[in-house]
Amino acid sequence: MTPTILVVEDEPAIQELVAINLKHAGFLVVRAASAEEAESAIRAALPDLIVLDWMLPGQSGVALAKKIRAEERTRELPIIMLTARVHEEDRVQGLEAGADDYVTKPFSPKELVARVRAVLRRRAPHLAGEAIEVADLVLNPATHRVLAGGQPIELGPTEFRLLFFFMTHAERVFTRAQLLDEVWGDHIFIEERTVDVHIRRLRAALESSGHHERVETVRGTGYRFRGT
Ligand code: CA
Repeated sequence: MTPTILVVEDEPAIQELVAINLKHAGFLVVRAASAEEAESAIRAALPDLIVLDWMLPGQSGVALAKKIRAEERTRELPIIMLTARVHEEDRVQGLEAGADDYVTKPFSPKELVARVRAVLRRRAPHLAGEAIEVADLVLNPATHRVLAGGQPIELGPTEFRLLFFFMTHAERVFTRAQLLDEVWGDHIFIEERTVDVHIRRLRAALESSGHHERVETVRGTGYRFRGT
């Protein structure tokens, strides 16, 4: 899975520098020049991490970080703050607002990429390319391969993303709208019954291994992946 990084920076040269370096490091990059633009990007599709400038026109980066932490949907989103401020109290304020890490301008692009990787490894190890295992079901995000009891399972791209999401969020119940948001990203234009179609395909692909029973329908709510 290629992690998507939202870069929020109003200075075009710095936005470009950050975006290009993250792209070269293999990330998908979405850009925003203000907190308001960032909010609409997040509404459209949840990124995997945000590189957030502190000083933005209008709403500040700190205010946006606080909002992200306050909302259920975005609470877990890793944030790296980008700032020209070096004083200790600012650092504390930023971390209190919910930032996972801090990079002070001027910064080396290499260092920023290393920090992004480190935060992803800590907060979302599955995005760092490590294999995920549930019993004898093994999903490898780096190779896009799924094995059940050592036998390859053939999955379409959407079923692969769906299984990836389920395996990294086992035991939790998700509504169709939440699955569209998390797995499809841009959920606004897709009908909820699309989810059911792909759930059926996923179950069919897993049936020979018996793992299809892990994909449980929760009546009146949505779906849950049984991890035990
Ligand atoms: Ca700025």
